[in-house]
Amino acid sequence: MTVIIIGAGIGGLCLAQFLKKNGVNVQVFERDASPWDRKQGYRLHLDADGIDSIRESLSDNLFQLFELTSTHALPYTTILNTDLTLKRRIPIDEYSKTKHHIENGVAKHLNVNRATLREILLMGLEDICHYGAKFRHYESEGNTVTAYFEDGRFAKGDLLIGADGTSSVVRKQRAPEAQFMDSGARAIYGKFRLEDARRVLPQLCTADVFTAASDSRKLILGVGPVIFPVRPDLATQCLGIENVLHEQHDYVGCIVSGRKEFFGSDIENRNKTSDELQQMAIDLLHQWPGDAHLAPAAAEKGSFFYIQMNSSIPFALSSHPNVTLLGDAIHTMTPSLGRGANVALRDSILLGKEVINVVNGSKTLSESLRDYEAEMTEYGFGVVRYSAEMGTRLLGQNALPQFL
Ligand SMILES: Cc1cc2nc3c(=O)[nH]c(=O)nc-3n(C[C@H](O)[C@H](O)[C@H](O)COP(=O)(O)OP(=O)(O)OC[C@H]3O[C@@H](n4cnc5c(N)ncnc54)[C@H](O)[C@@H]3O)c2cc1C
Repeated sequence: MTVIIIGAGIGGLCLAQFLKKNGVNVQVFERDASPWDRKQGYRLHLDADGIDSIRESLSDNLFQLFELTSTHALPYTTILNTDLTLKRRIPIDEYSKTKHHIENGVAKHLNVNRATLREILLMGLEDICHYGAKFRHYESEGNTVTAYFEDGRFAKGDLLIGADGTSSVVRKQRAPEAQFMDSGARAIYGKFRLEDARRVLPQLCTADVFTAASDSRKLILGVGPVIFPVRPDLATQCLGIENVLHEQHDYVGCIVSGRKEFFGSDIENRNKTSDELQQMAIDLLHQWPGDAHLAPAAAEKGSFFYIQMNSSIPFALSSHPNVTLLGDAIHTMTPSLGRGANVALRDSILLGKEVINVVNGSKTLSESLRDYEAEMTEYGFGVVRYSAEMGTRLLGQNALPQFL
């Protein structure tokens, strides 16, 4: 069986690792020219869905590398007042409704650096990951599906998986009925060097998974630490792994987010320099007491970028004999719960196991895809709904149509 994955993001790479580990022929096609073509973003919070999936997909050695480079943050979402004094510390499982994470007495939460995670997920896949391959469309005929790329290349397989993120081109063909919406929320992202964060932020900001202060306009300053137990470029040496991870320093990711009306024109903001966005973050918080509004001034120069937050609208996915979707390609959610990557990783393993069922002959491909899609849409859209609910409460995010 040959599996074609479109998109070498977190979900696509995790699935490719799992399939390769289980002896399935898999090829990944990614539009970026190389893994270092663009900035990958900063901190990601992983919960048990994400961590367990990564464990299932990687070799023991690579999983150890993942652990050595992940921050064991304290499992709290912490709320501050606008003067940055403590208001409330919420156990993260209570905040994200991730009850199953503590069912067996084990709560697992890690903060990771997104680029480092992607580097680890890429290790050993170099020969099957094709960069500079922008997917255009597919043709499905009988048991074969062919993927066509913008540069004229094509690839044939038994199963095509769209793991190509929020603007998925695979989804546009596979599920033209799917609708995505502008959530009405915007964000400016940046990061502090750890030592600067320690200077201007309360101590919990460098300990808990995520800490946020919010004002009456629902404008939020949120921060989350990435403190490497072992520096990524040294971690590979410790484990005798030949590939070397890029050097990274400890930092605290920071976000200033709220309704789009506070941020002004999207087009102008996308063209703003990091310095201009950093100044905008400071200006947005100018009503905050004391020095609180100046916190973003201590962040790293050049680290800021602008984000529009989108959400999928849950829908009933029709069936297809040999094309399916995973991760943000089908259930993009706003990052108000920090769960999108975790759900994408969970999809990868669920789908990977269904592919193994086909290879073993215990299910047909259509039975496997039916079972995968039923389970994935149920939990995936469930998290989309809860993320939207939380985003509406915290950020003034537009409600999903069915809640209007
Ligand atoms: C600011 C922010 C903070 C977040 N924080 C968290 C968090 O703390 N925890 C969490 O769980 N989630 C978080 N998320 C959500 C998380 O980033 C996503 O849910 C996750 O990246 C989805 O993974 P994916 O593999 O589905 O898609 P992606 O990671 O987006 O990967 C898609 C890949 O497909 C490629 N691609 C796209 N189009 C094509 C094409 N035509 N041809 C070939 N390749 C293509 C892209 O280049 C990309 O590499 C956050 C999101 C944002 C925006």
